[in-house]
Amino acid sequence: MTATTASPAGAAFDALADHSLGCPTCRPDPDRPGLAPPECPQALELYRAWRRAWRSERSAAA
Ligand SMILES: [Zn+2]
Repeated sequence: MTATTASPAGAAFDALADHSLGCPTCRPDPDRPGLAPPECPQALELYRAWRRAWRSERSAAA
């Protein structure tokens, strides 16, 4: 799926979504449904990047 992302925040969000789908650390373990998935440093970093882009876009628009 190739979507043309109009904004840095959109691109950062896509990167985070792509990572979560492909990363075994981010996916919950079906054998242990009660446990939260372990924290993935890569996902945290992607999340921070997305939030940074999103906030700067919002403050630019306001
Ligand atoms: Zn991950």
